[in-house]
Amino acid sequence: MSRANVEGVTLANRRLFRPHLAAPATIMTLMHFETLAVHGGTHARDEKTGDVAPPIHLSTTFVHSADSQPDHGYIYVRDSNPNGAQLEESLARIESGRAALAFSSGMAAATAALQSLPPGSHVLLPDDSYYGVRALANEYFPRWGMSATFVPMEDLDAVRAALRDTTRAIWAESPSNPLMKVVDLAGLGTIAGAAGARLFVDNTFATPALQRPLELGAHVVMHSTTKYLGGHSDVQGGALVFAGIDDFFDAVAHTRKITGGVAAPFNSWLILRGIRSLPARLRVHCENARALAVFLEGHPRVEAVHYPGLASHPGHAIAARQMHDFGGMLSFRVKGGREAALAVCGKVNLLTVATSLGGTETLIEHRASSEGPGSPTPQNLLRMSVGLEHPQDLIEDLAQALEA
Ligand code: PLP
Repeated sequence: MSRANVEGVTLANRRLFRPHLAAPATIMTLMHFETLAVHGGTHARDEKTGDVAPPIHLSTTFVHSADSQPDHGYIYVRDSNPNGAQLEESLARIESGRAALAFSSGMAAATAALQSLPPGSHVLLPDDSYYGVRALANEYFPRWGMSATFVPMEDLDAVRAALRDTTRAIWAESPSNPLMKVVDLAGLGTIAGAAGARLFVDNTFATPALQRPLELGAHVVMHSTTKYLGGHSDVQGGALVFAGIDDFFDAVAHTRKITGGVAAPFNSWLILRGIRSLPARLRVHCENARALAVFLEGHPRVEAVHYPGLASHPGHAIAARQMHDFGGMLSFRVKGGREAALAVCGKVNLLTVATSLGGTETLIEHRASSEGPGSPTPQNLLRMSVGLEHPQDLIEDLAQALEA
């Protein structure tokens, strides 16, 4: 990475957080991202105990008035609950949104968002997308009277050409899973706006510590909070964050209430706990991923490295513009095809062969096997979630695993 980019990252990280929040104009609107991550989900301190950390409210039901009005703000856990509400407040703040909804998983969040589009909707999806969203479109859209076109989202002309009168949503991932493609989010926002469609961005890989799509023109941000936001490979969750509180927000809130994919209180508490250290963790994830990407790029047994922080990455310039740093995810292709890639997984010691991402430990997986039959992912591709270990230990383990 060039020095100019390194400086760009530093400056960008210092930028003030600019939320367009409807929430009362508190001092929080002037705070830096790191401070908001720590303090974003407020909790009314218990006068009896003076607790610093928020309590977990496991109650599924709350005392209400005779005519079912929420005397204390809540009625029933599936509608909303105290820990979920705290998490949603934090998510809205850190993603520069007006409101958020917490779900039981990333897929529950994606499903609720897409199911809440009008009947007959056509959706543009990335040709490289999280495989679950691709399966949702292929297997369920026809049952719901919806249709999808898969497009290379990094090619804005291809996106324009794929629009139809019925296109109601453009769904983007940047960087994408697993090819790490970078998409011009501001460009997509303009196209979506002109077409009367909403731009949804799966921001799971980047996290709001590195990229805030709502500031770039997206309408809804989606997360698998199972990943970096939770941050410790021990909780599942999902989220949607909305630029505005409108009919679509109401429709998704209703879908969540009726179909039931709401986040559990304990999971919400764990994810809020993870968010407090998100910016600090991301700094090390990025540093380590950069070191591994450079190592892999120079390795004779590696055919290609997909990491947007490398100057050789086709989306590097866009990533440098729209991200504060380049993230902790990378993928690479091993010379010799599928068997050679599987052999690397078979030889690692420190790296853990497992799916998922965003935890403290470095994970590696043969992505095509993980996605299953019909996966379009190259057979020699390995995906890594680079953790918080010392980068030299990670490099040594990869070096011995790559030995012929
Ligand atoms: N989006 C991305 C980019 C993901 O990597 C994943 C899971 O790996 C999901 C969505 C789905 O999230 P979950 O597993 O929490 O349902």
